[in-house]
Amino acid sequence: MPNQTKNHTSPLTLGSIRYETVRLRPYQLNAAICLVCNNLLISEHVHDFVACDCGNLAVDGGMEYLKRSWGGRGWRELSLKTGEDVT
Ligand SMILES: [Zn+2]
Repeated sequence: MPNQTKNHTSPLTLGSIRYETVRLRPYQLNAAICLVCNNLLISEHVHDFVACDCGNLAVDGGMEYLKRSWGGRGWRELSLKTGEDVT
């Protein structure tokens, strides 16, 4: 079958409309900047606990949820929810 390629997604065709199944996650970016040391922290997966150098801030949760641990000073939130405009 030279012209057939198998994808991981299996498209569904209803009438003339072709649907592709994607797995939507609650978040597409889990990131924050520490206001003390200005480090950018990105949690890339659900158990990716990332702390900054000064110890003021840590992020966790990856794309599944947002977890923030912080000391006396705050952070600047950079996370994006699925469906928000990325540009
Ligand atoms: Zn810091």
